[in-house]
Amino acid sequence: MIRFEDLLKPTPAGLYCPPGDFYIDPVRPVERAVITHGHSDHARAGHGAVLATPQTLAIMAERYGEDFTVARQAAPYGQTTAINGVDIRLVPAGHVLGSAQAVVSWKGITMVASGDYKRRRDPTCAGFEPVPCHVFISEATFGLPVFTHPPDSEEVGRLVQSLGQFPDRAHLVGAYALGKAQRVIRLLREAGWERPIYVHGALERLNALYQREGVDLGPILPATGLPKDSLGGEVAIAPPSAIQDRWARRFADPVTAFASGWMGVKARARQRGVELPLVISDHADWTELTTTFTELKPEEIWITHGREEGLLRWCELNGQTARALRLVGYDEEDEEAPVAEPDPVR
Ligand SMILES: [Zn+2]
Ligand SMILES: [Zn+2]
Repeated sequence: MIRFEDLLKPTPAGLYCPPGDFYIDPVRPVERAVITHGHSDHARAGHGAVLATPQTLAIMAERYGEDFTVARQAAPYGQTTAINGVDIRLVPAGHVLGSAQAVVSWKGITMVASGDYKRRRDPTCAGFEPVPCHVFISEATFGLPVFTHPPDSEEVGRLVQSLGQFPDRAHLVGAYALGKAQRVIRLLREAGWERPIYVHGALERLNALYQREGVDLGPILPATGLPKDSLGGEVAIAPPSAIQDRWARRFADPVTAFASGWMGVKARARQRGVELPLVISDHADWTELTTTFTELKPEEIWITHGREEGLLRWCELNGQTARALRLVGYDEEDEEAPVAEPDPVR
């Protein structure tokens, strides 16, 4: 009798597959890693071998340099790769460009490690694909009923409205460098914003990578080296940490916005001094999480990084078997690494 833990089990380094001898999104350097997506808490440098989608490999190379791993293997969506007799297939997770669920099959058992995911449409990446499985491993970032995210078109609509209302003020939007920034830009384009969008230097390389991968961001200009206070009525996008530091001082009286699922929590917006909170999340909200569980009806649901308790309770009430994995090393903010940019305020 094979137990699910014979195929995948939580360890201090991350989810480990004993028969395949590989880890999924390991938080420590390992011999062989399968990486679901490029956010820095899931995709780390220094492994012996990395299997990931071509886009995730490109993102890792862009961030860490070409030598981020000794060996790499690109697995396009849908392709099955065997590692020591265990089949691995990467399918879209709808989280950021290249993000994948790892579908792991062995001796008639299928387990899905979904990494981070969301269910709503994202114009910058392939949509989440539900895969029937015995065990579904889910994140729990927004695993409480209070977290229901509004439609993103509404949120971007409020940004466009504010631009009309305050035509003399620059609008600084804090957005994570991988995924969120490009999604906000695409959503602005879909809302009819055709003017150039100004970006912090820390976003330039990933923006270029998205463009090379076929995501049309429209006219993008660097927000650096402009005369002070010259971006009235324009949109500038920067990593969240930059909208609060000296980088932002080049703008006189800007409207500061921040695009994050956490902006649904008023105290967090206040704490960060955000005037225009935009609830735009790359993670499934409560409804998306529980809808996914209902749709997949796996034999077991394993819950990791975030608010496990609420989802465990929901599973109990809805007759689904669930457990919390208590994996450590994953952040609730996708990225909050400090960013450096030469800062000549003129
Ligand atoms: Zn992520
Ligand atoms: Zn995560």
